[in-house]
Amino acid sequence: MFNGSCTTCSEVLSMADVLSVWVTLAFLATCWVYWREARYQVARSTGGDASRKAATKSAYIAMAAALASVAYNLCFINVAIPQILELGRTENVSQVLLSVVFLVLISGGNLLIDRFARGVSILIVDRKLKLNNASPILFVADAAKSLAVSTVFGVPLVVGWCLLMQDGSAFWWLAAWALWFVTLTVRMLVKPQLETLLFSTAHDLPDGDLRARLEGLLKGCGIGTRSLQVIDASKRTNRVNASVTGLGRHKRIFLYDTLIKRLSAAEVEAVVAHETGHATYRHLGKAWAGLGLMGLLVACAVTGITGVAQWQAAEAIGLLLATYPAMLLSVRPLLVRISRQFEFQADGFAAKVCGRQAVQKALANIFTANHGVWDHDWAYALVFASHPSGRERIGRLQQAGRPS
Ligand SMILES: [Zn+2]
Repeated sequence: MFNGSCTTCSEVLSMADVLSVWVTLAFLATCWVYWREARYQVARSTGGDASRKAATKSAYIAMAAALASVAYNLCFINVAIPQILELGRTENVSQVLLSVVFLVLISGGNLLIDRFARGVSILIVDRKLKLNNASPILFVADAAKSLAVSTVFGVPLVVGWCLLMQDGSAFWWLAAWALWFVTLTVRMLVKPQLETLLFSTAHDLPDGDLRARLEGLLKGCGIGTRSLQVIDASKRTNRVNASVTGLGRHKRIFLYDTLIKRLSAAEVEAVVAHETGHATYRHLGKAWAGLGLMGLLVACAVTGITGVAQWQAAEAIGLLLATYPAMLLSVRPLLVRISRQFEFQADGFAAKVCGRQAVQKALANIFTANHGVWDHDWAYALVFASHPSGRERIGRLQQAGRPS
């Protein structure tokens, strides 16, 4: 029952209906965006353009995954959560245990749908482009490890939320947010260690000219040389990439071994300068603080809705988990916009340190190696592109180099 102040609405819509409408609208918007992207790539695909064809297939696979996810979550909102709660009442199951059951079924199910879509993408897209090196066993083992990591972080969080809601103090939501924020912080802090412990083997660069160049670059930017490591990404993929993860002193810059093999020393240096730019401008710290603030707003909204709807703890947690993908989609345009600004800033930093030419060459080489497309439909870019397109990045670098 909807227990808000609008009597007319309560006769027409239950809260489950309201959430179902939101989840469905988010799904329809997602499908529209992926469909536009697929049509955009088809329209620009010439006969042998494998990259555009791959981007089209990826968009359709993502659309199918969105359909599976929305069907799964709607099923929980309207059928499974009420039935499990009823069963829990009959069998006298605690709210804490019911909350954990919802976490396993809802978040675990969504993660498996995501991994399955990734597996299909590897089979249909990456294999065709000769980018995949992961055996099915390795892929399944990685998915199982991801699930285990999510369980280790998720179960204490959900149990804590449930106990705080049951306690019912005036500021339970603030404590629930603090617990989530601590979990987020720990997860970001240990991300580099988890990467090397569970997924990849990391090693230092071998002695030589490249190592000397990169260490000189890091020292010049005030970053410890031990932050830089090479991981054996070629066990899974031929894609060329690099990343910076962690927070504060725990930050690590990981270079794919494929990157070292494919790019020249000057181009690798430009890539490391880009990652160093992220560290210098404290992008990860800003993302951490921004997510914290966003989480606080969500906590305020959830406590308001929970109070109006008079949900029990497990019911509120189940519905929160089932609507989380729609919630994330709703804020994605803002998140990816900020991320794209960070990328431009890091490119600008790399251009200052290594020169525009080296950065442009590195970007062009990486896009070619990864069979990336150089542009996307505007709606897709608005919602999903965490990085600017290759055309935008190189265009921005060229623009910065022109005399004003
Ligand atoms: Zn970047």
